[in-house]
Amino acid sequence: LSFKFRIYHLKLRRNSSRAQHSPLPAMSTTEGKPDADAVEEMAREAAAWCAMHGLVVGDRADPRSGTVPGVGLVHAPISLLPSRLPESFWSQACELAPLFNELVDRVSLDGDFLQDSLSKTRQVDDFTSRLLDIHRKMMDANKKENIRLGLHRSDYMLDSETNSLLQIELNTISVSFPGLCSIVTELHRTLINQYGNLLCLDAKRVPGNEASRQFAKALAKAWDEFNVDSAVVMMIVQPEERNMYDQYWLVKYLRESHGVTTIRKTLSEVEAEGRVLPDGTLVVNDRKVTVVYFRAGYTPNDYPSEAEWSARLLMEQSSAVKCPSISYHLVGTKKIQQELAKPNVLERFLENKEEIAKLRQCFAGLWSLDDEEVVKSAIENPDLFVLKPQREGGGNNIYGLDVREALIRLKKEGGDALSAYILMQRIFPKASLASLVRGGVCHEALTVSELGIYGAYLRNKDKVIINDKCGYLMRTKVSSSDEGGVAAGFAVLDSLYLT
Ligand code: ADP
Ligand code: MG
Ligand code: MG
Repeated sequence: LSFKFRIYHLKLRRNSSRAQHSPLPAMSTTEGKPDADAVEEMAREAAAWCAMHGLVVGDRADPRSGTVPGVGLVHAPISLLPSRLPESFWSQACELAPLFNELVDRVSLDGDFLQDSLSKTRQVDDFTSRLLDIHRKMMDANKKENIRLGLHRSDYMLDSETNSLLQIELNTISVSFPGLCSIVTELHRTLINQYGNLLCLDAKRVPGNEASRQFAKALAKAWDEFNVDSAVVMMIVQPEERNMYDQYWLVKYLRESHGVTTIRKTLSEVEAEGRVLPDGTLVVNDRKVTVVYFRAGYTPNDYPSEAEWSARLLMEQSSAVKCPSISYHLVGTKKIQQELAKPNVLERFLENKEEIAKLRQCFAGLWSLDDEEVVKSAIENPDLFVLKPQREGGGNNIYGLDVREALIRLKKEGGDALSAYILMQRIFPKASLASLVRGGVCHEALTVSELGIYGAYLRNKDKVIINDKCGYLMRTKVSSSDEGGVAAGFAVLDSLYLT
């Protein structure tokens, strides 16, 4: 379809579907809508259950909650009941996970593609430029990563305009909530079993979620491949982390199910305590590290000084498995997402035509800002686009009239200013009513959901050891909010109810 036609089409559909956005109760197809008292009771039970099952985060109100484990806990923000999704979209998303795992691995091998695609971005984005410097150093040193571990999450929304599942983004670094999401599923099954008659719901329609166990297993297998008994997994963490219990769930499974010890270090601690032996072994505080698992390092805020950058370089130069390596990290940038969506680019990396078609089917419209026609359209119809910088972690995108303003300003600035961003087709998920529980308070709101499917990939030389989907993350947010992060305070953790 020509671009103009597509925009016209989107507008038409949008106008006609707006009228249908009447708030449907979340449980619309059942007669079982519990009354306000029952909902209050369920919410209290749910919050207590969270506390008793480790579905918790650090409480903003307690200044020590991000640094001292075990103090200032509050139940994670949750949806009281799971959100509905037709089973066909669930199957589609699950099927895509191993394809994206494979794609990330293939693209990561093409260093020139990564460098070239991001070459303009680097002129205007210092953070991307620093990552590319490390990547370039590894290319120049002809550094080979034999053991490759990816723990990814591909996020989707169900677009009501086209009734299709469209990818929001693919995350390759520091994907959050593999620990907590599995427990939300258990919570929802428990509530449905307890209040089943009242709700007319069936707990079997909430798919199982083993994300935390499967991620721990993938980390343990990577550790196994290295075969150094005394070695540890090193989790790179932020100095302050209120989502630490999500991380401690993986630490627990690594120890209890696999006998693997995890140490937690910040980038600046690695700089102070780490060294690489002549044979490539990474040693931190006298402990051999065979797997580095990043739960930090994805945002410029994580690199306040040169110390953090030298820690990142040190780890990359070592022989330890990096999850992710610098090249896996770069594959997950929004610029690369946009490049991969161009015609004939997937074909450079994959052979199977059916698989290529399946991947492409979930791509939304993505454009570089070199495309003057698209920039013009976005200025005329800013509501149909999202403007995205090369950032992770929520709260960075530009929506609505701000898109117009930003584009006009960036055009004026001239030069490469536009290259810091990509434009994406705005996805319009259908809204429904849900009860959200936050800080012990339950309220009903019109919401939309985003489904993330976790994936694990492990390869040692030619041997693919794991290429699997690993459970899911459902996030639900108030429909009037543009952004979707749970940690950033926009969304709540949720699970799925298949219809
Ligand atoms: P981040 O890496 O910061 O998570 P995302 O691309 O996932 O960046 O965008 C953050 C949030 O913005 C998403 O969780 C989603 O709620 C919203 N969002 C992103 N892209 C779109 C889009 N094309 N249409 C509608 N909402 C979007
Ligand atoms: Mg995201
Ligand atoms: Mg992201």
